[in-house]
Amino acid sequence: MRTRRYETQRIDGLPERMVTPGAEALKRIRRENSRIAAVRRLDTDRPYYRTGFVWPVIGTVTGVYGSRRILNGEPRRPHYGIDIAADTGTPVRSPADGIVALAADDLYFTGGTVMIDHGFGLTTVLSHLDAVDVGVGQPVRQGDVVGAVGATGRVTGPHLDWRVNWFDARLDPALLVPPMPKRQLRPPPKTLPDLSRPTGRGARTTDRGSGGSRFRESRSPGPSR
Ligand SMILES: [Zn+2]
Repeated sequence: MRTRRYETQRIDGLPERMVTPGAEALKRIRRENSRIAAVRRLDTDRPYYRTGFVWPVIGTVTGVYGSRRILNGEPRRPHYGIDIAADTGTPVRSPADGIVALAADDLYFTGGTVMIDHGFGLTTVLSHLDAVDVGVGQPVRQGDVVGAVGATGRVTGPHLDWRVNWFDARLDPALLVPPMPKRQLRPPPKTLPDLSRPTGRGARTTDRGSGGSRFRESRSPGPSR
């Protein structure tokens, strides 16, 4: 066994109420936490997670699982999710089959939040959503859009926070998916290869094809649809 080393992340300039909430906010946070805890206790005996997992959003990973956090200079609990930076409005997809177990427009810390029950205690949390497009009890297939990336809750910019729980335990979502695909870089027009050369044209088509399919090429076959 090897000791895993975690990174330290400093986030400054957060509104003070987000770092040290007042009495009213604490009541609200407790209420919301008990809703989340109830979802984490679900023990649905359907193995939805067998679809395997795909990234809910393709973007730049800006925060990894387990990083220590110092908010406005104050040490706080480690970060148990993966942060993926993407533009507001980018569709957020269910990483595996499941049933929507929580759909909230505005939780104190996580803003627009969707929780998906993948069966047998495995749940996904998708946070800081700008839009929530599903309702509690709704079945979702892997890849279905459940909302949109946003900057709601305790955030410094638009991104998706993705967490995976197994009951009380936190799992590192990155261990469930292939490496984040590189975003496709489109060269500016003047650097395009000579289109009269068939090799140049062929290469571009291949690039586009593989970039598009990589998202679906998870380790799992996914639902047949
Ligand atoms: Zn996060």
